[in-house]
Amino acid sequence: MFDDQCVFCQIAQNKISAQKIMENEDLFAINDISPKTPIHILIIPKTHIPSINDLKTDNQTLIGKLFTAAREISKQKKLSEGYRLVINTGPHAGQTVHHLHLHLLGGQQMESMV
Ligand code: AMP
Ligand code: ZN
Repeated sequence: MFDDQCVFCQIAQNKISAQKIMENEDLFAINDISPKTPIHILIIPKTHIPSINDLKTDNQTLIGKLFTAAREISKQKKLSEGYRLVINTGPHAGQTVHHLHLHLLGGQQMESMV
């Protein structure tokens, strides 16, 4: 379930301290250490899945829970004007932490990327 070399696994196990905005048995959410927007939160499954490419059929419910958590956090943070959800996968997308995570970005007007 955990990878000892992985920073998000260490946070999941409270080996590195981080203020958790939300936590349940499946996932947790933290502020990004290097925020790109006024609100930049990472929603992270507790189990170590390196990327979207490593998802198994069994993980489908978990992925749904990440998006449900994003919706709940958006309400908590009063992002009624909108927000962006991003999952970087692989080097071309700039993935730097190889433990699946959903970025929730908001708090400012953003240009469309697609
Ligand atoms: P990605 O490029 O999608 O892999 O995003 C990884 C994100 O994790 C980056 O936005 C980093 O700023 C963030 N990050 C890395 N280490 C930490 C940490 N210890 N606590 C919070 N955010 C982190
Ligand atoms: Zn991990």
